[in-house]
Amino acid sequence: MPNVDMQQLQNMRNHFETGVTKPYQFRKKQLQLLKQAVLKYETEISAALYSDLKKSKEEAYTTEIGLVLSEINLAIKNLSNWMAPKYVSTDLANLPSSSKIYRDALGVVLIISPWNYPFQLMMNPLIGAIAGGNVAVIKPSEFAVATAGIIDKIITEIFPDEYIYCVQGDGATEVSAMMQSFRFDHVFYTGSIPVGKAIYKMAAENLVPVTLELGGKSPCIVEADANLSTAARRIVLGKFINVGQTCIAPDYVLVHQSVQEELINKLKSTIEKFYTTDASTSYDYGKIINEKRFDTLVSYLNEGKIIFGGNHDKSKLFIAPTLIDNISLDSSLMKEEIFGPILPIISYSTQEEALQIIKQNENPLAFYLFTTNKKTENEWIKAVPFGGGCINNADWHFTNHNLPFGGVGKSGMGAYHGKFTFDTFTRLKGVLKTPNWFDPFIKYPSFKGRLKLFKWIFR
Ligand code: NAD
Repeated sequence: MPNVDMQQLQNMRNHFETGVTKPYQFRKKQLQLLKQAVLKYETEISAALYSDLKKSKEEAYTTEIGLVLSEINLAIKNLSNWMAPKYVSTDLANLPSSSKIYRDALGVVLIISPWNYPFQLMMNPLIGAIAGGNVAVIKPSEFAVATAGIIDKIITEIFPDEYIYCVQGDGATEVSAMMQSFRFDHVFYTGSIPVGKAIYKMAAENLVPVTLELGGKSPCIVEADANLSTAARRIVLGKFINVGQTCIAPDYVLVHQSVQEELINKLKSTIEKFYTTDASTSYDYGKIINEKRFDTLVSYLNEGKIIFGGNHDKSKLFIAPTLIDNISLDSSLMKEEIFGPILPIISYSTQEEALQIIKQNENPLAFYLFTTNKKTENEWIKAVPFGGGCINNADWHFTNHNLPFGGVGKSGMGAYHGKFTFDTFTRLKGVLKTPNWFDPFIKYPSFKGRLKLFKWIFR
């Protein structure tokens, strides 16, 4: 039996329809309450992230709690401006009317999040949902049990059930039951491609709009002219933070053959510098989420030649930072999103060759390029359709809330972060206002003989 009943969802719909969630003061107050609660429970959130993923306090803050606080602060600061209707110009045929765009709340929204950054990937969309004047059902991942627990505790403590409601439990059961018995006004889903497809299908039944933040294989190109020491540091951090369980982590490296050996040596020494020679005891190295994921990742280790790392321990859910080469492009390692601490390194000699490899897994969520040549940079950016990415860096585009974050094609649809989250959780409503004092007869029948005039007006 699902945990949530239709009556709860209907209560939320009724609550939204009273209009209480829409005024500016109300939205601002709820964002402030959320901020205070995050600050109050900071230690517990951090402990939950340690329990679920062995994240250090520093990593928990920089990759989860701090990002959430910064998004709340931004929303509080800009809310009134974001909410204000915006004047736009009016075309000649409609003059002297004026035109305005309003931002409407969507209604009852459903937010579903995954386990890898279980706090921020739930809270950041929720901030936009609140800022947008909506009511929200949130469904954290059942695999990050401790974080789901603290999220539920916070939400239950500060918000009434009819406003924000947290549903825990098995996603397939809970989400399907809700979506089949209730029409949400928007579904915001972050997670894997197969589940994203299932959500999209269920949403289509009721023409429910969706945002899908999915995964995929994100390539990382290292050109012959790259600064290799910097590249190695940034790739190692981007790949092995959260033990590779990052949707935008460089999935595999494509390195120009002339610098392959040098890059590999630098990657090896950087891994040892960051995580010591035994990452299982490193303060900065976490764990795999569960045994199922552990087994999948270990199976990948047989698909190429391990050139660094490879050791693992199921009792600790530990897999060392691993570099692997001699990989067949037909292997599952090069067909499935790795989502763990295994970094395939493949060499190329021409851009065309590298592009063919990327095209095997089209529409990457992220794309990274290391080069010092501006022309090469422009060529690559134009050549690959990707969600977002970095030049001479990895992962960090995610943290700039002035950049829209989202996928393309198979890696998702829609975008969020900062103002874009507010945009995602509101609907544009265009309104034309026409004065009564001017009503030219040419707008009314009979139109006969006015074709030339109309052509001039619409020119
Ligand atoms: P997942 O799809 O297994 O689960 C995500 C959420 O969906 C959970 O809350 C789960 O309860 C729910 N769910 C599971 N099965 C469901 C079903 N049949 N119907 C409805 N809901 C269901 O994803 P995951 O394993 O938790 O996350 C890993 C994936 O997420 C990776 O592919 C990764 O790239 C992607 N991801 C993407 C982003 C992004 O921002 N684009 C961020 C993090 C993770």
